[in-house]
Amino acid sequence: TFPFNEFTPPYILPEKPLAILAWNENPYGFSPMALEAINESTSKANRYGWQDLMGLKKVIAEKEGVNPSNIMLGPGSTDLLERTSVYCFRDGGNVISADPAYMSVISVAQASGATWKAIKLTENYEHDLEGMELAMDKETKLVYIANPNNPTGSKTNRNDLYEFCAKVSKKAPVFVDEAYLEFSKNGLEDSMVDLVKKGKNVIISRTFSKIYGMAGMRCGYIVAHEDLITELSNFTIPGFGISSPTIIAAQVALDDKEHLHKCRTDILEYRDITIKYLITKNINYIPSEANFVIFEINMDGTKFTEEMYNSGIVIRTFKFWDKTWCRVTIGTDDEMRVFFNAMDKIYRK
Ligand code: PLP
Repeated sequence: TFPFNEFTPPYILPEKPLAILAWNENPYGFSPMALEAINESTSKANRYGWQDLMGLKKVIAEKEGVNPSNIMLGPGSTDLLERTSVYCFRDGGNVISADPAYMSVISVAQASGATWKAIKLTENYEHDLEGMELAMDKETKLVYIANPNNPTGSKTNRNDLYEFCAKVSKKAPVFVDEAYLEFSKNGLEDSMVDLVKKGKNVIISRTFSKIYGMAGMRCGYIVAHEDLITELSNFTIPGFGISSPTIIAAQVALDDKEHLHKCRTDILEYRDITIKYLITKNINYIPSEANFVIFEINMDGTKFTEEMYNSGIVIRTFKFWDKTWCRVTIGTDDEMRVFFNAMDKIYRK
């Protein structure tokens, strides 16, 4: 029997997986240069990786145009989202985010006793910044924005978001999760990191899991005011959770511009093909600037997931706005062909 439902992704893969399109991973793997570096680094892994960690932090600080004291590294950005949440909600309060949103920060906030104020995306699938600002009150301890958003893949206008963050960060910290920004039209140009440089109470997160194709290696970081980094450091020893081969690989991966370019180009090309497929089939979808696309299904989510699973394909389904949706990560040419074939059989109007 299929042991999952629409709220629990199938963590166990089908016997013969043909297309793993469930977690917004990069199907092309990580930089070949980084892979070589890992192989060499394992022989040094009897030692803690402090020196390499400091080296990586410095390189990232240069890339972001900030000081190393503005950077905190962690084993994936999830770890840092959760730690920030533990820190912000230790005395309760409320968190404001989009509806629907990526849930790491929110789940931990709720587990800490905080309440969640979910503000529905606008008709254009952007964050309802006005609505979010109106929802803020004295108990608001964090505003969380993923841009592009997950699970919708939609992006909020850069200038509107910039103005919003600059303004509301005077009242509460704003966490902008930029896990997918490299896949967006303007890429990192639309980052909010500039606000950190201006001393605003804004936290930016990035990850090596998406465009860098290193999801299983676990590495991510936040950029924030150094006082906040210092405060957060009381809740964790920064970076201690990252293995030393990962630290070494991440630094090399940052330099492999050719690989990054190839991943972006191929993923964006297949994102277009996926959208064209959905249009041809007259399926309602949300325009995406990430490495996944979400579309409406007129079927029970668990049943759809199960039928896909039995065809060797892992996708995710969601329920929001009284509709059921399938989110598909953009895979390789082979994977997407398998997916389109399965759609032709499984999807019912
Ligand atoms: N933020 C968003 C919006 C995500 O969708 C994800 C993963 O899917 C993450 C953060 C976490 O990524 P990681 O912990 O691998 O860095």
